[in-house]
Amino acid sequence: MNTITKEYDIIIIGAGTAGCACAIHAAKKGLNVAIIERKEKEKIGDKVCGDLIDYRMIDWINKYLKIKYPKKGTINKMISGMETYSPDKRSIIKTEFKGVMIDRLKFGQALIDDAIKLGCKLYSSSICKEPVIKDNFISGIKIKDAKTESVSTLRSKIVVDASGAIPALRKKIKLKDSCFESKIDKKDEAFSYREIRKLTKPLNDSETTKIFMSSKYADGGYYWYFPEKEDVMNVGIGVGRHLDTASMKKSFLNLISDDPIFEGSKVIHSGGGILPTRKHLDCLVANGFMCAGDSASQINPISGGGIAQSMMGGYMCANVSADAIKNGDVSERGLWQLNILYADRTDKEDMGFNSAMFDGGSQAASDLLKIFTQNQSDKNLNFAMKNFIKSSMLAKMSMGDTSTMPFLKKMKIIAKSITNLPLLMKFNRIVYLMSSVKNLYKIYPKTPDAFPEWKKRLDSIYEETYKVSGSGNKQQSNKNDD
Ligand SMILES: Cc1cc2nc3c(=O)[nH]c(=O)nc-3n(C[C@H](O)[C@H](O)[C@H](O)COP(=O)(O)OP(=O)(O)OC[C@H]3O[C@@H](n4cnc5c(N)ncnc54)[C@H](O)[C@@H]3O)c2cc1C
Repeated sequence: MNTITKEYDIIIIGAGTAGCACAIHAAKKGLNVAIIERKEKEKIGDKVCGDLIDYRMIDWINKYLKIKYPKKGTINKMISGMETYSPDKRSIIKTEFKGVMIDRLKFGQALIDDAIKLGCKLYSSSICKEPVIKDNFISGIKIKDAKTESVSTLRSKIVVDASGAIPALRKKIKLKDSCFESKIDKKDEAFSYREIRKLTKPLNDSETTKIFMSSKYADGGYYWYFPEKEDVMNVGIGVGRHLDTASMKKSFLNLISDDPIFEGSKVIHSGGGILPTRKHLDCLVANGFMCAGDSASQINPISGGGIAQSMMGGYMCANVSADAIKNGDVSERGLWQLNILYADRTDKEDMGFNSAMFDGGSQAASDLLKIFTQNQSDKNLNFAMKNFIKSSMLAKMSMGDTSTMPFLKKMKIIAKSITNLPLLMKFNRIVYLMSSVKNLYKIYPKTPDAFPEWKKRLDSIYEETYKVSGSGNKQQSNKNDD
């Protein structure tokens, strides 16, 4: 049965971190906001996650969303360092990292409560089914009440899809003459499974997060140990989508039974998810429509950390929406500013970025590095971490920053890598491509007309990256390592 039609300035699908940040900021900008969420209100924020955020996000929330944070009970633990292990565990890269383990449910509840307090209308237990399209514009959505099954139509000037890694609308947006990227390749996604386990003994070092590269347990990704409390561990694996979920779970259970710290431990919470680990969407907007967060692939392609990026993505959508509505132009061209804002942060530091976040160019650079590392054998990764990847570089590199990597000019590095110079040379080429892609995002087209030409240049950098990385050769070379 169809029920009443309502009208808003902006409808946001999904009350995750992207959706809530967007809603809070849009309400503060004076917009009339509706949030559609398939979960019950009390379950908002209950998400399978590593629960780790950079400490700088606390300042970001206070500064940009202008809400008081942290709220009581939202923080489980402070983190002071990160260790990254090579597959043979002989090289450990230690980096200083001030982080926070959050209580994901309480964090989500705090955000949605703030949005509601600011006047946003929450439609909980409501599933977004399809877009309403009129005159080549998205002009609203159809939602189904999960309890009564009744269907309603909601209309708005702008719809924001912030519904996560399996987006409610993105794939259904097929408008004429649009640059919008509605589909992403499955090979760019990662599967993840994680458990929160109560250990029998307190950890020796509960302030350090650990990341392990290992094709044995996490092929095409890594596994992590993030302490939630002195005796509670958030442990998970992220793998490429060439593995099915059953194989991933099997690898995970092997990992648990092989490490004595989990002996006698009890599972408190478990589950899996998908991570869109790639560059962000080449074009984030269409007529009357925008994407934010996982739905827009706004994530760290290497670590899979996406809370910070998703909040910034949502915040930027709110800013651009407010301007477009004021200017009376919510077309793709009218919303194009979102693409420009996200692409490159130069001269835009005060528009939503902080130093823990990517701009689009850095995210793409980091994506190229991910493609390269994913295609290396354990033997090559061991070699690289032993001989030419230093602690000082790792944090920067994973943020797509190539400034510390002029490799082939350093004789010491060449001498150390003499037994595998082809690897060093390939890596050097990837570093060059990372710089090129960052420069390309600095000249992101100012209008949609120039987009196809720009996109061709982007595609050619990716093509070369796959070629240099030897995409698809990894399984073969891992076999050779045995
Ligand atoms: C296993 C795992 C571990 C992770 N660990 C970390 C970490 O430690 N640190 C970090 O920063 N990031 C981590 N991430 C990534 C991070 O969780 C995401 O990048 C981030 O939550 C994205 O936020 P979002 O708002 O875009 O999506 P989500 O948080 O997924 O929110 C989307 C919302 O939309 C709702 N929704 C979906 N479909 C519909 C529909 N049809 N109608 C209505 N509502 C709908 C969902 O119920 C959900 O509430 C991890 C991800 C996974 C899977």
